[in-house]
Amino acid sequence: MHLEQRTLITGGAGFIGSYLCEKLLARGHDVLCIDNFFTGAKRNIAHLIGTKHFELMRHDVTFPLYVECDEIYNMACPASPIHYQRDPVQTTKTSVHGAINMLGLAKRLRAKILQASTSEVYGDPTIHPQTEDYWGNVNPIGTRACYDEGKRCAETLFFDYYRQHGLRIKVARIFNTYGPRMHPNDGRVVSNFIVQALRGEPITIYGEGNQTRAFCYVEDLVDGLIRLMDSGDDIVGPINLGNPGEFTMRELANEVLELTGSRSKLTFMPLPADDPKQRQPNITRAKADLGWEPKVKLRDGLAKTIAYFDALLKEGVVVDR
Ligand code: NAD
Ligand code: UDP
Repeated sequence: MHLEQRTLITGGAGFIGSYLCEKLLARGHDVLCIDNFFTGAKRNIAHLIGTKHFELMRHDVTFPLYVECDEIYNMACPASPIHYQRDPVQTTKTSVHGAINMLGLAKRLRAKILQASTSEVYGDPTIHPQTEDYWGNVNPIGTRACYDEGKRCAETLFFDYYRQHGLRIKVARIFNTYGPRMHPNDGRVVSNFIVQALRGEPITIYGEGNQTRAFCYVEDLVDGLIRLMDSGDDIVGPINLGNPGEFTMRELANEVLELTGSRSKLTFMPLPADDPKQRQPNITRAKADLGWEPKVKLRDGLAKTIAYFDALLKEGVVVDR
């Protein structure tokens, strides 16, 4: 007999997934973490392995999965441009076949299912800040499309399973999230700047550095995901989850330099293709439907992230650039 809530987390050994595993275990859930370790790391969940309510399975979501559970967080997918562009066909498969397999599983079990969608569905947005009713501006054949279009198609599948099969779905559009356990080599801006600053290497600003992003601390984000999963069946989303505080990449670099006390210089490099110029979530819907808004200020979240990377570098973890 199962008294605990049985929760399946795909991509549970990844950056965000590992916090979800931790938080849900602390709430008494029985957690099944599945991951193919493409970008995830055993290090992220090492402290959970062997604990009573935690189970780890190596599995690729592009293949069907037959397990029993009550709810599914579908987090599996590389999230950083460097990682998702390494094997773009697999990235699209992970989003699309992964969604089909997990939706099929949810349908058989009548389980609730949450999709980790992304602000990338808005592409290079022409409205600012982005609201959920905006359809986006995505280049369907560019180098980011494997991720953006894969995630857009996954949203389509979620809403078709909802309409066609009455599935209980939840779609979260996650904006840039950062914090300890980010992959040190993933090329994302927060990890890049911090590692560069700590090593005294030049800080690589792409373009002029005037493009903006809004950064959400991982614990705030995970709180939002859990609130969404726990919300009533009428709340399906899509729902933006992110921190509305908007910064240019130059501002971010200066903040990192100040907090690390580093004397690294800024260096300017070409802007990657289709790099969105601005991004900021409108979180009115999350506030109204979930009573959620982020609490951690960029400065405080960066300080914790810097401490994590500092320890990692001192441990001698190899960081290739
Ligand atoms: P991450 O790369 O750290 O985690 C993704 C996890 O999925 C990894 O553990 C990886 O090994 C696993 N994975 C990848 N392909 C898989 C497959 N085919 N089968 C099984 N496991 C697979 O990334 P993250 O930042 O933790 O992102 C988690 C989710 O949140 C992703 O779906 C991502 O698209 C979404 N998201 C993240 C951000 C962000 O800023 N971090 C923003 C928007 C959306
Ligand atoms: N960026 C940068 N220097 C870096 C890495 C990224 O200036 O070393 C820029 C990048 O061009 C983008 C922003 O930072 O405009 C965020 O990039 P990231 O890859 O973190 O996420 P995404 O573009 O997916 O939001």
